[in-house]
Amino acid sequence: MNVYTDNAATTKLSRAALDAMEPVLTDVYGNPSSLHSLGQRAKEYLEQAREDVAAAVGADPKEIYFTSGGSEADNQAIRTGAYLGAKKGKKHIISSKFEHHAVLHTLSALEKEGFSVTLLDVYENGIVRAKDVANAITDETCLVTIMTANNEIGTVQPIKEIGEICRARGVLFHTDAVQAVGHIPIDVRDMNIDMLSLSAHKFHGPKGTGALYARRGILLKNIIDGGAQERGKRAGTENLPAIVGMAAAIKEATANMKENSAKITLMRNRLIEGLKDVERSRINGDMNCRLPGTLNMCFEGIEGESLLLLLDAKGISASSGSACTSGSLDPSHVLLALGVPVEIAHGSLRLSLSEYNTMEEMDYVVKSVKEVVSYLRSISPVWDKIKMEEK
Ligand SMILES: *Cc1c(COP(=O)(O)O)cnc(C)c1O
Repeated sequence: MNVYTDNAATTKLSRAALDAMEPVLTDVYGNPSSLHSLGQRAKEYLEQAREDVAAAVGADPKEIYFTSGGSEADNQAIRTGAYLGAKKGKKHIISSKFEHHAVLHTLSALEKEGFSVTLLDVYENGIVRAKDVANAITDETCLVTIMTANNEIGTVQPIKEIGEICRARGVLFHTDAVQAVGHIPIDVRDMNIDMLSLSAHKFHGPKGTGALYARRGILLKNIIDGGAQERGKRAGTENLPAIVGMAAAIKEATANMKENSAKITLMRNRLIEGLKDVERSRINGDMNCRLPGTLNMCFEGIEGESLLLLLDAKGISASSGSACTSGSLDPSHVLLALGVPVEIAHGSLRLSLSEYNTMEEMDYVVKSVKEVVSYLRSISPVWDKIKMEEK
C-alpha cells in the first residue's frame, strides 16, 4: 500500500487546480503586461486569481502581491517591517523560537545588519503567549512576526490576540500562515494582521507560487527589482499558470474546509488512538489548539531517520520534522524549543494528512509504525540502556 502522509512538506496538485492551469499553459500564453488582446486576456486571468486569493483570506485584491512562494513572501514581509522601522530609528523585531527557517534565517541576516531580535518561548505546548508579546514590545520595536500554525507540530497560535496587541502599540504584525491558509479559517481584518504569507503547494496548488498580503497603506520594500509587475513591488513576469492554479486550489480548499477538516480530524484521531499507547512515546504540542491534519510524535530509543526509511520501504511517505532540515542530523529546532530533550527529539515522526487520505491508510500506518518502532528498538543499544535503567 502506498500512503502519502507528508502533506505539511507539500501536497498533491488537485484536479481543479490542474484543470484551471491547462488553458493558461496552452492558449492564454500572453504576457499580462502586454497591451495586445492576448496579453490583456492573460491580465484578466491574473486579476481574477488575485480576487480569489484575496477573498479566501478576507483581503482586498489590491492588498495581494504574488510571489514565488512562502519563503519569498516571508523575506519580503520581514524586510519591509525592518526597512520601515529603520527609517524611524526602530530596529527591534520580535518573533518566536520555532518559526520556519524562511523567517529565522531572514532575522539572522537582519541581526548582522544591526537589528536586534527577540525570539519568544513557545513553552511545552508549542504555543506563544500573547502576553509575552506585549511584554517584549519596546519603543524600539518595529515588527512582530509569529507564525499562524507550526509546520512541524501543527500548533495554532493566538494570532488575533497578538494582532490586537500590535495594533494597539503601533507595531507592524506579520504572520507566516503557510500551514494555515486553506486548512483553518483566516480573516486578515478580524485577526488584525498587517502582512501574511501563503504558499500554494501547501493546499493542493502548484509549487513555486505564493502570495504576500500587505494591508493597504503598507509600502512594501522590493526584494526583486526590475519591471513594474505587482504594482512595482515584485518584478518579473508573473507565473500565470501557477497563480491561476493557486486560485483554483484556494477556492476549492475554502469551499470544502469544514468537510475536509472533519474528515481529516477523524483520521488523525485514529492515528492518535493507535499510537498513543506505544511505550515511551509522546505526542508533541498542544492537543486542542492544532491543525486538523498534523501529528508529531517522539519514540524514545530510536532514530527518526531510520524510522522514516523503514516506513518508506513499506510504502509510507512521512517526515521526521521539516523537509527543509532533512539531510542534516541535527534534531529539530522546533522540538528543542518545546524543551524536548535532544536524545528524544532524535526519534521524531511527523505524519501530516490531507483529504486524499483514507481510514484504511491510517490503520496501515498505525500497524507499520508499531512494527518498525519495535524492530528498531530490538536492535538499539540506546533502548537496551533505557530498559536497564528502568530496572
Ligand atoms: C512550506 C513553508 C514555508 C515555505 O514555503 P515555500 O512556498 O516552500 O517557499 C514557509 N513557512 C512555513 C510555515 C511552511 O510550512
